[in-house]
Parts: sequence; C-alpha cells; structure tokens
Amino acid sequence: MKNEYDLEEVFEYFFGDFKTSKNKILTCKITKYEGRYGCSKSFTVNTTTICPRCKIDKSVKCKKCNGKGDICKERTILINIPPKTKNKTRFVFKGEGNQTSSEEERGDLIIEISIYGTNKDTRTPIEKVQQLLR
Ligand SMILES: [Zn+2]
Repeated sequence: MKNEYDLEEVFEYFFGDFKTSKNKILTCKITKYEGRYGCSKSFTVNTTTICPRCKIDKSVKCKKCNGKGDICKERTILINIPPKTKNKTRFVFKGEGNQTSSEEERGDLIIEISIYGTNKDTRTPIEKVQQLLR
C-alpha cells in the first residue's frame, strides 16, 4: 500500500533530525468516526524563528526578541483529514516547523493522528455543515 510506504519515509526523516528538534511533532486526537469519514481540525502551533534583527547587530540587546535570539510565533493551521485515515498516520507540512539556526532551513511540522473512542458521530453541527460543503 502506498500509504504505508510514505509513513516509513516520514519515520526515517523524523529520527534523522531528532536531536535538533527542527521538526515539530504534534498529536491530533480524532474519534473513530472522524477517522472513517474524514474531518478537518484546526491547531494552534507555536514555532520558533531565529530573530532576523539579532542577526544584523549582536552588540545591542535586541528589543524584537528580548535578547533571546529567537522568536516564538503562534499560528493556526487547518488540517483536512481524509476519510479512512488510520491511527498513527502522519501528515507532514514541509517547512512549517522550527528554525533552530539561521544557516539552516526551517524544519517540518508533523501531525500524527491518534484515534480514540467510539464510532459515534461526535461532530458539532458546524463541523457537519463544513463537511457537507467540502
Ligand atoms: Zn533579536
């Protein structure tokens, strides 16, 4: 199955970069029902960016980042989980992870699916409408 092959590749990649923690890994909990029929989830993600101002002048204490050297930025990410998504499936958002060094490229954001609960439809009315419109 194509899906399983992709998963293995992601796994290797993840362990390869583990020490630098460039890649940010989050777990997305969904119900069995959501996994079977698909759903969309929004996330708040905090990612680190090397302060661009510090790079220019290191002699004065930077006001942009308070001298820390990096900036934590909060963003909202929307993920569309397709129907028949299995437990432990990983979605990779290339270049959406942390930046740990100004010389290096930004890491990836990896969202791992964790399926729990029953087959009952636990979607909110808004989610039901959103799915119909998709
Ligand atoms: Zn700075």
